[in-house]
Amino acid sequence: MATNNIPKKINTAAVAFQTWKKTALTERIRHIENLKVKLLENKQEYAEWISKEMGKPITQSIAEVEKCGLLCDYYIHNAPAFLQGRTIATEAAESYVTYDPLGVLLGVMPWNFPFWQVFRFAIPSIVAGNTVVVKHASNVPETAQIIETLCRNSGLPEGIYQNLPISSKAVADVIANPHIKAVSLTGSENAGIAVATEAAKHLKKSVLELGGSNAFIVCEDADLEKAVSTAVNARMQNAGQSCIAGKRFLIQESIFDSFLEKYKAAFGQLKMGDPMDPTTQIGPMARVDLAQEVENQVQQSVAMGATIAFGGTRNEAYFDPTIITNVTKEMPVFNEEVFGPVAALVAFKNLDEAIAISNNSRFGLGVSVFTQNIEGIKTRISDFEEGAVFINEMVKSDPRLPFGGIKKSGYGRELSEEGIHEFVNIKTVLIQ
Ligand code: NDP
Repeated sequence: MATNNIPKKINTAAVAFQTWKKTALTERIRHIENLKVKLLENKQEYAEWISKEMGKPITQSIAEVEKCGLLCDYYIHNAPAFLQGRTIATEAAESYVTYDPLGVLLGVMPWNFPFWQVFRFAIPSIVAGNTVVVKHASNVPETAQIIETLCRNSGLPEGIYQNLPISSKAVADVIANPHIKAVSLTGSENAGIAVATEAAKHLKKSVLELGGSNAFIVCEDADLEKAVSTAVNARMQNAGQSCIAGKRFLIQESIFDSFLEKYKAAFGQLKMGDPMDPTTQIGPMARVDLAQEVENQVQQSVAMGATIAFGGTRNEAYFDPTIITNVTKEMPVFNEEVFGPVAALVAFKNLDEAIAISNNSRFGLGVSVFTQNIEGIKTRISDFEEGAVFINEMVKSDPRLPFGGIKKSGYGRELSEEGIHEFVNIKTVLIQ
């Protein structure tokens, strides 16, 4: 699309906002109900596009589309309570806050969950009365267009949701457009810095959901079988291309060898292959350059003394499930985000040391801890520098729970009540 059509689209979104913000919430919700029905009717087709464009195994693509349906349901049922405002007692006759929409929002979205990431930004934003334009990742152009078509075919009025098929270079001009009121980005640290800088120049709000290098801590008192099987999913889902994947596996010394043996055995069972085959568990990575980057991170770490305990080879975009041991904190597999199917294993002596290793990261998205000592770990939650602490479970997003990070993982929250409140004007009203 010619870039000169972009201001026209943003204008359309701004015009649509004037009507949409006055549309009753019940009516806006009715539109989301229709959209959900169409989404689930066509889930096989949408899942196939996801798999074709970015290589996710088809069963995981179907699950991604279904999860978007759950997100719609969540806001269909909860938005009225989240948006009703609240009374605050003061000396005045009345005082309260209302949650007004902001206007046209820009979403800059990644390819790794190309439906889910867009939905979790767009649905609460639209329900709150905003209109949105989305610049999706350049390697998922059909999926990007399909989401716009879905919105139109489900009856959402023109201008509420529009796809902007532009390059990342054109994003600055979109942010500068006076109709754009705020921007939400999910992606890499560099993209986050670029977008936040442009937003700051124009004093516009930004929400950033960036990378992570989550620790997955297994204490000696943990249920080892459960820890191993969860550790496989935590690292291997979506061929490891997930911000909230467990990436650094911190295993207590006394169980390190048995964990490693079981983990290797479990990796050996994984079926890698054609993403369209429903029995495939690991598909290719989304792009060859991304697989090459993971290969570089592994090779550099090996040159610094790491050991490949399992896997380690790449064939075009396919990267073998890989386990790395003898890892030190200077190595790329420890101190960078490894966005592929590579698990770095580190031994620890006690929980204090595990927490210190876990916090020794630029990122702060989430951490998993496996232990039977629930009361003990609950006293340590505040020691973790993270947006989320999951005990005996992998970190995963859930429409009901706020999602987001601290440190270089970004700022702001998506999902839950906090997510829908990111892009509203919290207006204070006082009547004397
Ligand atoms: P990017 O962060 O480059 O891409 C994510 C989105 O941001 C895309 O829409 C992209 O557009 C856009 N973008 C990129 N640079 C800019 C910029 N300067 N200004 C405005 N928009 C921009 O991810 P990559 O695909 O290059 O992946 C690289 C790494 O990013 C991964 O290895 C991983 O570490 C991280 N990542 C993290 C994700 C997460 O879920 N937190 C998701 C995806 C990646 P375009 O595609 O046109 O470049």
